[in-house]
Amino acid sequence: MQYAHMPAGYIISTLLFKKFGKCNVSYRKFISYGMIGAVAPDFDMIYFFFQDHILHHTHRFYSHYPIIWLSLLLLSALWMLFDNYHSQYPALAVIFTLNGFFHLILDTIGGAIYWLARPGMVGESFAIEQYLPWSSASIELVILLGALCLSGKKLIIYLYKVIDNL
Ligand SMILES: [Zn+2]
Repeated sequence: MQYAHMPAGYIISTLLFKKFGKCNVSYRKFISYGMIGAVAPDFDMIYFFFQDHILHHTHRFYSHYPIIWLSLLLLSALWMLFDNYHSQYPALAVIFTLNGFFHLILDTIGGAIYWLARPGMVGESFAIEQYLPWSSASIELVILLGALCLSGKKLIIYLYKVIDNL
């Protein structure tokens, strides 16, 4: 997947925002952290181009290891539980890591992810596109349209409130 990561992060963050209502986090900050987390695994492109010199596929790098994102997600969730939902920072960490983990699910649809990889051992990759009745491009299109519909709905609600306050 190439284009659907950030829209998917937008959809997930928008749908989950109300669940984090007790955390005193602003909508804009929550969505921003979610969308950045949705593309964070691909930050390895910097290493890929400038250090690795395009020798290995980026899915072989630590930033695409599910065990790392799952560990960070669990730590963030524990932080939020111990913080008793008071601070915004654990909520931002949860949405960042959740979308980072979801990035790997989308990459499994559009490519192949080494789901059992851990530092020191990459293992076998796993892809599901060949088992799906649709191409990854059509799934990307659905995600993009979903994000557009969701943002359009938010815009209409916002405009209605502005007009209502006149
Ligand atoms: Zn990726």
